[in-house]
Amino acid sequence: MSVADDDFRPGVAVEVLPGVRRVVAPNPGRMTGPGTNTYLIGRRRLVVLDPGPASESHLAALLAAIDGATVIAVAVTHTHRDHSPLATPLAARVGAPRVGRRARHPDWQDPSFVPDVVAGDDFVLESDAGALRALTTPGHASNHLCWHQPADDLVYTGDHVLGTVSPVILPPDGDMTEYLQSLARLAALAPARLAPGHGPLLREPARVIAGLTAHRLAREAAVVEALERLGPAPLATLLPSVYRDVDPSLHDMARHSLAAHLIRLERDGRARRDGDRWQRA
Ligand SMILES: [Zn+2]
Repeated sequence: MSVADDDFRPGVAVEVLPGVRRVVAPNPGRMTGPGTNTYLIGRRRLVVLDPGPASESHLAALLAAIDGATVIAVAVTHTHRDHSPLATPLAARVGAPRVGRRARHPDWQDPSFVPDVVAGDDFVLESDAGALRALTTPGHASNHLCWHQPADDLVYTGDHVLGTVSPVILPPDGDMTEYLQSLARLAALAPARLAPGHGPLLREPARVIAGLTAHRLAREAAVVEALERLGPAPLATLLPSVYRDVDPSLHDMARHSLAAHLIRLERDGRARRDGDRWQRA
């Protein structure tokens, strides 16, 4: 087993903290970085968090790393398709319950994930690496959970907080106001480190969370400015103006976050929609 936090070879179990292993799924990409991080938390009595996409090789890698230990739960942070599809086959193989929440809207979701146990705030799993407490953090997805491991002052953040990119908000399931509230919630917890759903451990959570919050508010200010200058205008007209600093190849995804900003502004009485055109309220 490797111990280097910069080892993202798929299928290799890397011990990122004592008792916590990461196995990266073979799904690298623009939205997934090196691939989805599956965490094995504990040694003989463990929780598998975010089993990842449907992949025979990833299932085999996880079973090899589990190596006959008792899996008490196959838990998820949320049910986007890079995080949960392997939950059902893995849970069946190891005889563990699927733990998570259902999303309120089916877009972008993995329909195969049905929780056997629904986790809400203060729900706790007890691995032999310590307690793992659920923290509801909607925003990126309506059913998003972070998992807090007090023994290591660590929070597994799924796609709520990522190190190098700002998570996409996908309405109607994703919600920008909820996202900002969930960032504040995580900031208030003030953990020492974060284990995101993609990429390496983050050792300066306060700085990362403050950066993401500032990034969202700056983008919101750019949306307001574009509405004043271009409105009434359809989303397609606002997009290149608001995201002029972002590579156009990413605009397909950025348009969802833009819609999430507009919905938030509309709800707050700062933007108005008339058909497909948006303007300042
Ligand atoms: Zn993801």
